[in-house]
Amino acid sequence: MSSDKKAIVAQKLKALRDEYRQKLPQALAHISNLANEYLSDETVLPSLKQQVHKLAGSAGTFGYSELSQSARELELLLQGWEQQPPGEQERSKALKHARALDQFLQGAAEPQSPTSYPSFKGDEPEVDRLIYLVEDDTSLAEELSATLNSFGYRVRHFTSPSTAEPAIVERRPDFLIVDVMFAGEQRQGPDSIQQIQENMADPLPVVFISGRDDFDAYLGAVRAGAVGYFVKPLDIPQLIDCLEAHLKLHQAEPYRVLIVDDDVLLSHHYRLLLESAGMRVETIQDPRKVLQVMREFHPEVVLLDLNLPDCRGYELAQLIRLHSEWLRVVIAYLSAEQDEYRQIQAIRNGGEDFLTKPISDMRLVSAVAVRAARSRQLSDAIDRDSLTGLLKHARIKEEIALELERAARQGKPVSLAMIDLDYFKKVNDTYGHGAGDKVIRALAQLLRQRLRKTDSVGRYGGEEFIALLPDCDAESAYTLLDSIRENFAALGFTGDSGVFNVTLSAGLVTVNGQKTDGEKAVNIADKALYAAKSAGRNQVAATEVTAQTDLSD
Ligand code: GH3
Ligand code: MG
Ligand code: MG
Repeated sequence: MSSDKKAIVAQKLKALRDEYRQKLPQALAHISNLANEYLSDETVLPSLKQQVHKLAGSAGTFGYSELSQSARELELLLQGWEQQPPGEQERSKALKHARALDQFLQGAAEPQSPTSYPSFKGDEPEVDRLIYLVEDDTSLAEELSATLNSFGYRVRHFTSPSTAEPAIVERRPDFLIVDVMFAGEQRQGPDSIQQIQENMADPLPVVFISGRDDFDAYLGAVRAGAVGYFVKPLDIPQLIDCLEAHLKLHQAEPYRVLIVDDDVLLSHHYRLLLESAGMRVETIQDPRKVLQVMREFHPEVVLLDLNLPDCRGYELAQLIRLHSEWLRVVIAYLSAEQDEYRQIQAIRNGGEDFLTKPISDMRLVSAVAVRAARSRQLSDAIDRDSLTGLLKHARIKEEIALELERAARQGKPVSLAMIDLDYFKKVNDTYGHGAGDKVIRALAQLLRQRLRKTDSVGRYGGEEFIALLPDCDAESAYTLLDSIRENFAALGFTGDSGVFNVTLSAGLVTVNGQKTDGEKAVNIADKALYAAKSAGRNQVAATEVTAQTDLSD
């Protein structure tokens, strides 16, 4: 997080603490009054308990941990009074405790403010994929550089760790790819890198490539911070998978979190914290809004308070669970409920787990991030094809329908490409099905790399792909697709009987704001693909939907 942004968040958090501090005397007086009223009117007991519970949950967050503790003790004293009214002694003890809360602020120390905030990831500049390749075999380095280039990485080549080191210090790369053995250097790759890493504040992700496949080589790599290890001859698509998976972690969309809590100040505080850690957050106080917000905001994590107006948190969890489309959402209770039995009841009734208030800022952020990552993993597993990581047939069709609708509404162009590998049966027959799979994966990676964040790619069939490009006119779409075609044709693959290349053909359709349904757009792209195949393959054929296009069949 930039220091400006940090200062702004710190300021906002402080404003919330100040507001809490201002309202606190009133809240404490309210508790003390309710305690007095209880003497003549036992029906105020639920309100009293509710207020004490709320205080126990929020005071710690705003820096009054002793007060929170004290409220928690009072809450325990009040427990069970509904079933069995307290004895005289018990009652006066609790009342004394409640009144003491009122005195709490007199002479109380300034609330402690946290000294640091979780780091901000949300608006850091896009990672520009710079790789330093440290390899003394120049022909391998050339081949690898060329492939990485066509996948959109920038590569600088060094022939030894000692020549790479000053460059690393001067400009930090996103990745290091390092050979394990070097002729003429005292140290081996992992040793040198380990030493370089020791001087870095943030370790560099490094992938080792090596002819060695033994324990010591792996151990050395792990100690040097390896995120990947590949034995030569290199499976380049697999290596790129590894780089991508790593970059994806750092470039992912912000997590989306919904907080349902009737305590406005507290939910505001949580919101600021999570937002400052790069997440997107919605808060609602009224549980009746939950369905609407779930539909519009698509949260990945829902944090539920247990005590809500009109209903219990676990009822809300059950209500969410009645919708199978929200299966992937992780529901966690965030509540001051300390009773283990009731916590377990709540978890049995729909939520996944329990976070207890007060919760430290760091713990809240990390607990939510872990759960959001889990939800995303689940979601990916449901929607994505396992070989390529691309959207499955049904999901890409949904995306197409949505995008066409949006484009028509906004009067913007949208392009759709149907891509199919050329003579792929022959590839399988000649080089084996395994080699064929690698080709499919390489194309998937290339598509993911070359398309924008707003584009979608799906595996439509075995070796058929669809790329959906919102807000992309015919000319840009053609240029993009044709350059992908060219890059792909240049990739070399290794099969049982040598190195080979594969080409692709694509049919492109651009819809310029007309209302078109998904199936028709796919049909038009399919016809264009057929034209590209008939005209000799390894080419892109483009069509446009215009006012004259017959969309009737
Ligand atoms: P064309 O240029 O006309 O497209 O010729 P083609 O040989 O590619 O013909 P077609 O598209 O009909 O063949 C598709 C082949 O792709 C058939 C199938 O065995 C193969 N294939 C489909 N899915 C997979 C897969 O997941 N892995 C592998 N290795 N091959 C697959
Ligand atoms: Mg084919
Ligand atoms: Mg096909």
